[in-house]
Amino acid sequence: MTNAAANGRPSLQVLLVDDNPIQLSLLRHLFQRHGHTTIEARNGAEALIVLATEFPDVVVSDCVMPLLDGYQFCRLVKDDRATRHLPVLLLTAQGTGLARFWAKTCGADRFLVKGRDLDHVVEVAESLARLSSRPRTAHATPKLAQENFGVDAIQRRLSQALEQRLVETALRDSIARLYTSDHDTQRLIQGFIEILQELVLPGALIVAYLGEEGLWCQGVHGSSTSEEDRGALEKHVAEQGLFQPPRGCHWEHVADDDDRRRSLRDPVLRHFSAATPGYPSVGSLAFITERRAAEEFERLFEIAAEELGRLLSLEDSRLRLYHQAIRDPLTGLYNRRHILDMLGMELNQCGRFGQGVSIMLMDLDHFKAVNDRFGHAAGDQVLSVMAQRMAFGLRKVDQLGRIGGEEFLAYCPQTDLDGARALADRLREQVMMDPIPGLPDHDRMTLSIGLAMWEGPEDTIERLMARADLALYKAKAEGRNRVCG
Ligand code: GH3
Ligand code: MG
Ligand code: MG
Repeated sequence: MTNAAANGRPSLQVLLVDDNPIQLSLLRHLFQRHGHTTIEARNGAEALIVLATEFPDVVVSDCVMPLLDGYQFCRLVKDDRATRHLPVLLLTAQGTGLARFWAKTCGADRFLVKGRDLDHVVEVAESLARLSSRPRTAHATPKLAQENFGVDAIQRRLSQALEQRLVETALRDSIARLYTSDHDTQRLIQGFIEILQELVLPGALIVAYLGEEGLWCQGVHGSSTSEEDRGALEKHVAEQGLFQPPRGCHWEHVADDDDRRRSLRDPVLRHFSAATPGYPSVGSLAFITERRAAEEFERLFEIAAEELGRLLSLEDSRLRLYHQAIRDPLTGLYNRRHILDMLGMELNQCGRFGQGVSIMLMDLDHFKAVNDRFGHAAGDQVLSVMAQRMAFGLRKVDQLGRIGGEEFLAYCPQTDLDGARALADRLREQVMMDPIPGLPDHDRMTLSIGLAMWEGPEDTIERLMARADLALYKAKAEGRNRVCG
């Protein structure tokens, strides 16, 4: 057997909790043989009394005990700010079923099965004490010690712990529910803020996140916060280094109820990063509220930040996947399937509301020669520059996609053939105006464009596309760099 002190490891003070005297003395011998000191209690209630005056490094507790069992004891230890960092190792009689479940849900750091794992109990307790983040200097008094330790006080603490657990579960549940009911990032954040604003107001709360259009910031503030308070929140989020400074925050003002319309007497600013393990950080949460609320609801804010991290990472993955599914990676334009889907929907709308639509089928002229002369990479660059120019040259209502190698499709709602022809000619001239980076200055890329107009409810997307294709063929045959149809 090795001795902790002789081994250079610190000697620990271990609180042993067990109602069985034989088991208790067995544990005492095990720990003392390794150079540790022990304090003992015969049930959870006694152990709580011990914790009012002693500051052990680790607790080793039995589960089934009279008065206050190991799970309840552990729950109370973990719910109290004064003792939550104290590592708890539970010893259970069985290693399966509910015993394992309760051991996990009551917040125990580890649990071991008595018969099977007892050889490791010292080793595990030592490693828990080593990893513990307990501030060694903090000697806050446990809440129970502030009351008198009657059965009543313990009962009250237990029911508070249960209620706290219910509130936490309800909070997690209501935030998770947002995601199943909505898939619009801004509305999700709005919903999240509405859930939290009850805890924060009067005060101010902001959520900053990386959305589809870059960094976005949404916030809510009550009547009692000043312009400076809100500025401080924005600045604080920007300074966390997660993001570039946001482009200003979209604030919503909420009038406080009469009883809330007092000023913030003792305001504090708190910040939480909204992260999910294994996912790059995508959000941040900060608020100003009364110090009392910040302390009372600390655990709830931690949970809210965790859930926000989960929500934002899910939303971020969903947007990435969606983006990948509808965009062409080289040019960033819509891909073939998506632009045709959108055109299909547009034709449906036209059928219902009697509007018209024209399409443009566009093909780069002699593009193969670019590849042949300058290589495929240069060809790729030309495609992406030309795509940008086309997108720039069209109107906001027009939609553009890449439907093949160097073939593009645009549709122009509420536009007849004359309108489409004017638009196409202007576009054709615009794209060839400037030299293309990477190609000789005098080289210009040109476009041939085939037009077709939707001819009413009997017309189909296939026929419309076939007519545009024929027009494009004609434009090529007549010498390229022109519009037909
Ligand atoms: P035309 O004026 O008749 O349209 O002649 P063209 O050379 O533009 O047409 P063609 O259909 O003969 O050749 C198209 C070329 O586009 C052939 C193919 O290698 C090239 N291409 C297709 N997709 C890509 C791509 O993603 N990147 C590059 N670099 N080239 C591509
Ligand atoms: Mg071509
Ligand atoms: Mg082609």
